[in-house]
Order: sequence, then structure tokens, then C-alpha cells
Amino acid sequence: MKSIYLDNHATTSVDPRILEVMLPWFTKQFGNSSSRSHPYGWQAEEAVEVAREQVANLINANSYEIIFTSGATEANNWVVKGVCKNTLTSTIEHKSILQPCDFIKSKGILLKKVRVDNSGTIDISDFFDKLDADIKFVTIMMANNEVGSIQPIEEIGDAIRLKDILFHSDISQAVGKINIDVNKLGINSASLSAHKMYGPKGIGALYINENLKHKISTLIHGGGQEFGMRAGTLNVPAIVGFGKMCEILKMEMDEDSKRILKLKNMMEEKLTNAIPEIKVHKSSNRLPGNLHLYLPCNNIDLFMSLLAEKVSVSFGSACMSSSIHKSHVLKAMGVNQDEINKSIRIGIGKFNTEEEIKKATEEIIWTFNIVNSAKDI
Ligand code: PMP
Repeated sequence: MKSIYLDNHATTSVDPRILEVMLPWFTKQFGNSSSRSHPYGWQAEEAVEVAREQVANLINANSYEIIFTSGATEANNWVVKGVCKNTLTSTIEHKSILQPCDFIKSKGILLKKVRVDNSGTIDISDFFDKLDADIKFVTIMMANNEVGSIQPIEEIGDAIRLKDILFHSDISQAVGKINIDVNKLGINSASLSAHKMYGPKGIGALYINENLKHKISTLIHGGGQEFGMRAGTLNVPAIVGFGKMCEILKMEMDEDSKRILKLKNMMEEKLTNAIPEIKVHKSSNRLPGNLHLYLPCNNIDLFMSLLAEKVSVSFGSACMSSSIHKSHVLKAMGVNQDEINKSIRIGIGKFNTEEEIKKATEEIIWTFNIVNSAKDI
């Protein structure tokens, strides 16, 4: 039996239209986009530039502000280490921000972290308290990958716009789901990942404006690709797919998000009615497909293993062992360890149907009741 996929924050399936546009770039049009002497190279270069424009368009950037990377992890690492200045970040960032931040701290850079409230939204007064004259770089994510909380990026951008502070945002969970205009947000850079938005894995981008481009160090030296800042032969098929997906999402995102939100609300209502002890980790501004729940389950590992056959969801974060689940995000929100252990993340995506959501909801309730009614487990 096929397990209903509800883990769309981890990754998404490639849109069939994207696979179709990618295929010729593996076979007939396999040229190296840096080859300057023949049509294979010219065509590949043109396709990459079209994709760059499509990615830029989705976030209202200019195409010369888009540098293709292998994904958001690379883009985040590059900015944090490439800027390497006294940093203010939040306690709920993805590890690809937090670990490079710890790395630069170990080299003597000042690092401060803003608190979040119990909904997973940054405490804006704590942000301003910590934003003193020493801080030269701020990195705050747009939407959290566990609880889906959307952060007040525009408010922060407005506050620091005229100061000598560089501002990065990891927008990888938000892009393609909510409207993003990098100019309105007042950010200098942002990280994107195609596989979070129905594109292929292993491709993403760093949006970087001219101000920061002149200050950041080159990531990879070599053949001069990507404005001489990230050398290496480009992954043309993946770039073409990523670009096309951005073009499609620009047109379809609003409708997709409305439909996904309806499905999420339906599921949330049915689950909380059937199991009133459920606690939903929700913020006032949340990604449409995110449903993060504490389930008062007698044996959460058994519940997850039984459920996996039928519905694919995840613990909010990677597991340390079978029963201790680590989530720096829930911890930062003040959730106690027992509730962290029993919290699951559901991510609804644009390929989920109403029928699937109804079925998955029934399976969750059924599995929960079976596990909780069993004795001595
Ligand atoms: N940032 C966030 C918020 C993410 O959710 C992820 C993926 N889990 C990443 C960064 C890393 O993205 P990638 O898989 O493209 O390296």
C-alpha cells in the first residue's frame, strides 16, 4: 500500500511538467554552458540565463542578483562564513545557519540569538534589545521549517535599512508558498532551494544584491562561473527545472496556497475534534500547509512506525534515539521534553488531494486510538 506523503517540508515531488522540460538537457542538449565555440554551449548558456530570470522574477530580484548553488545549505553557509561579522540570529534557524554561526563564533566573532515566543515567532523587543552597535550582520529565516511560523522580516528590514548592517534571510521554506519581494523585505541576501518547491534536488540559489556582492568572499575559485564567485560546471538540467518551476509558481502559487490552506484547516479541525488533547503549535502567521501537533500518545515510536505504512509524516526534527527527539525549535518555544518527544510535523503540498487528506486524518486517529488503547506498551 502506498503511504500518503505528508512531509512536504522535508522535500516535494518534482512537478511532472518540470521533469519534462529538464529531460532534453540530459540528452540532446547536453552542452556545457561555459562552452563558447559551438551551439551546444550557446544553447545551454541561454537556458541558464532564462532560468536565472525566472528565479529572479519570483522574488522580484534582478537576474544578476541570482547565483545558482547546490541548495539552501550551501547558500546559508556561504553568506554566514563569507560575511563573517558580528552576528544576530534567532534560536530557531535551520542548522545550516546555526552551525556556520557557531563556526564563526569559534573564530572570535560575536554571536547573539533572539528569543522566540511560544508560537515560534521572534520576540521583536528582544531583537531590538540585542541589536546594538556591535552587530554588523543579521540573519533571520522567513518561515520556520518545523512549525511554519512566518517571521516579521519586513519590520526588521525597515528597522535596519539605514544602518550599516547586512541582512540575510533563509527563505527556502517560504518561497513558492507566500509572496516574496526581496526589495520590500529590505534584505541583502536570501537562500532558496528547488526541492522544497516541486523542483529537483541539488539545486538552489543565493539571491545577493550588489551591496553584499562586493563585500562577500568568493565561495569556489576555478573557471569563473557564476560571476566568478562560485566556480564549477553548471547543472544545466536542474537549473532549467528550477527556473521553470519558479515561473509556474509565480502564476499558480496563490491558488495552490488557498487550496492547501483549506485542506490543512479541514485536517486540523477533524484531528482536534477527534483527539481534544492535541495541541497545535501554531502562530498567527503560519505557512498554509504546516500542521505541527503534540499528540498525547502512550507510545509515539510505535504510533509513528504503524502510521508510516499508511501516512508519511515526520518528527519535527531528526531523532537522537528511538525515544529522545531533539528539536531546538520546540525547545526555544518553551515546549517541555515530553511534548517535544510526542510532536509530529505534517506538511501538506500541492499534489495532495482532498481524498488523501481525509484518508490520512482517519489513519492518524485510528492509529492513535489503537496505540493508546493497547495495554503494557
Ligand atoms: N533552510 C531551511 C529552513 C530548510 O528547511 C532546509 C531543508 N531542510 C534547508 C535550509 C537546507 O536546504 P537544502 O536541502 O537545499 O540544502
